[in-house]
Amino acid sequence: MPPELNRQNELKKKVLCEPCSGIQRHWRRAPGHAELVQGANRRESRESGHATITAYRCDRCGTVWEYENNKADQHAGWSVVGG
Ligand SMILES: [Zn+2]
Repeated sequence: MPPELNRQNELKKKVLCEPCSGIQRHWRRAPGHAELVQGANRRESRESGHATITAYRCDRCGTVWEYENNKADQHAGWSVVGG
């Protein structure tokens, strides 16, 4: 891994709490964690049809997550908003 990328990863780890940093991103049906508080749902169009996106906020570290539920995309899942 290039040093630049390593440094970026370290910075990210400081922002995310331990359970958040354990979430597997961009993987369908990966679990979240117990301190995520569910927010609003929205629907978005994808090439393959509709996806439902649910916002979550971590009660511990304040990170805002989105979970994309898209049956057609194995790589839709958790992502950090603005991260
Ligand atoms: Zn967190």
